[in-house]
Amino acid sequence: MAGHIYLGSNLKMYKTARQTQDYLLNLSMSIGDLSRRDLTVFIIPSFTSLDRARRTIHKGDILLGAQNMHWEDEGQFTGEISPLMLEDLGVEVVEIGHSERRHVMGETDAAVNRKTLSALAHGFICLLCVGETAEQKALGLSDETLRTQLKTGLWGVPTDSLDRLWIAYEPVWAIGVGGTPASEDYADGKHAVIKHCLSEMYGSVAGRVPVLYGGSVNRGNCDALAAMPHIDGLFIGRAAWDANAFNEIIRAVLPVFQRKQGMVK
Ligand code: PEP
Repeated sequence: MAGHIYLGSNLKMYKTARQTQDYLLNLSMSIGDLSRRDLTVFIIPSFTSLDRARRTIHKGDILLGAQNMHWEDEGQFTGEISPLMLEDLGVEVVEIGHSERRHVMGETDAAVNRKTLSALAHGFICLLCVGETAEQKALGLSDETLRTQLKTGLWGVPTDSLDRLWIAYEPVWAIGVGGTPASEDYADGKHAVIKHCLSEMYGSVAGRVPVLYGGSVNRGNCDALAAMPHIDGLFIGRAAWDANAFNEIIRAVLPVFQRKQGMVK
């Protein structure tokens, strides 16, 4: 959505329910004074922390997300979590296709598509993650990879669901321990590719879909990324897992996004 800022974190397989609660209490207190009119903050904890997290944060203060979801409402799928279970927990955002799901757990574009369709049909905000591997980048296939992931991941997604679609551009080589953060120019160029592909698929309404950058964002590079014209938000891992550190990043990038989006002079 134009003129809106999205900042969030995926806690991956870190933090128990108790640790998540402490983290969320700290974070909501530190950012309590910030207006949410133009700002959405979201946190995506582990499944086992969702219930405690829901009871800790107020709706509208910090959006609550889940890291994955099966596409079926119920069934013989041992170890999976269904959309009905997430609805029951008051989850608002579902992250689909994170690089660790795709490249460590073997999730295919087809599975990502079924999950995306199901998440949107159930009324969740779907945070669809896309990104090329180091090998695809080296072969000059980054743009093709992104376009393929978008076209297969969003196959059959109707235009009227776009209001609840967010995209995270997370180059696989940039994510996690050992990842190299993308330069702001490189990241911005790929955001432009993503936005162009979405507009080919959906026309001008695609402009409503925010595209967030993720991959080794930290206090040192967050301002430069936030200043880039095609970046609508930041999706942060390690650097946001300490509430004070995330608060610092949020306060650093807010004025940068606001200036860029013409909210303040
Ligand atoms: C992620 O895994 O989505 C991520 C962005 O992690 P990090 O910021 O730690 O690279």
